[in-house]
Amino acid sequence: MQKNKLQDSQHFTLKHLASGVYACIHKSGGAAYSNAGIVDLGDRTIVVDAFDTMVAGRDLRQTAEVLFGRPVDRLILTHPHSDHWIGASVFDETTRLLANKTTRKISKKWGAGIVKDFKDRGAWEERIKEMEGQLQTEQDEHVRVSLENSIIRTRYVMAEMAKFQPRYADQAFDETVTFHGSKRIVEFRSLGRGHSEDDAVLLLPQERIAFIGDIGFFDTQPFLGFCDIALYRKQMLFFQDSDYDVLVPGHGPVGGRDDIALQLEYLDVMEELIVNVVQRGGSFEEAMQITLPKPFSKWLFGGTGKFETNVRYLFAHFGGELPKEE
Ligand SMILES: [Zn+2]
Repeated sequence: MQKNKLQDSQHFTLKHLASGVYACIHKSGGAAYSNAGIVDLGDRTIVVDAFDTMVAGRDLRQTAEVLFGRPVDRLILTHPHSDHWIGASVFDETTRLLANKTTRKISKKWGAGIVKDFKDRGAWEERIKEMEGQLQTEQDEHVRVSLENSIIRTRYVMAEMAKFQPRYADQAFDETVTFHGSKRIVEFRSLGRGHSEDDAVLLLPQERIAFIGDIGFFDTQPFLGFCDIALYRKQMLFFQDSDYDVLVPGHGPVGGRDDIALQLEYLDVMEELIVNVVQRGGSFEEAMQITLPKPFSKWLFGGTGKFETNVRYLFAHFGGELPKEE
């Protein structure tokens, strides 16, 4: 990207939601797998989340700086999962990082793991080889696209992994932080455990816009790997019953309450199918054979590993016995 001109990023689409409010939605074939947001408070700029690669984070920083002609004042992080904050390391000290206390604590654990993982270049090369191997025989066009995108993103990660230094929140909060800007008042609120150990959301009540992090996965399956399903549902219900019209999810396109309703339905469908397998004494392999009805059948693309993670979580949750790890 050029220095002072707003240009399209290869990694995300900038979507204008209201005066001074933008969603940054990951683009297929780019280095980003998650979403971010940019909000002008009038006298300062807030950025929500920072993508899963430094290269996409750099475009995000540049876009926010060019849009409002000043450095980003705060970068706020919705939750500890690193696909939302690896790009935070490209922001310098003029930008302060803010997260919930739990998020800061858990992020540090994840960060240490990532630094270690990034030293094992061979394992990453192996991953690419494996995906390329799968591509040789894969017939399904959706799965092919998903594999191709994963290979591209993995290459982006490999290009920068040697330089990666995690950056964590400088400031941590408990429940709510309210930003009183000259143009608008916004609230960064923790909704507690649910999708992750803590999920915080940025609320713009006047504009009825909310940046909901991974409480939202629109047009794609939500990730249950680290969740508490009952509390995750509660977080979704908070938005389904709210008067927020525009919801910016952590993954997938900008949506609204209908998208949250569909996510809840996805959970119902998955739970019912997997409870059936557990109750008849079926194995985890059998649980993996369940087929989802429309529109959820097409949600499976964009990470077949996520389906296995979700089945595994629910199978164990309902008392099924998981196969022993090798
Ligand atoms: Zn997440």
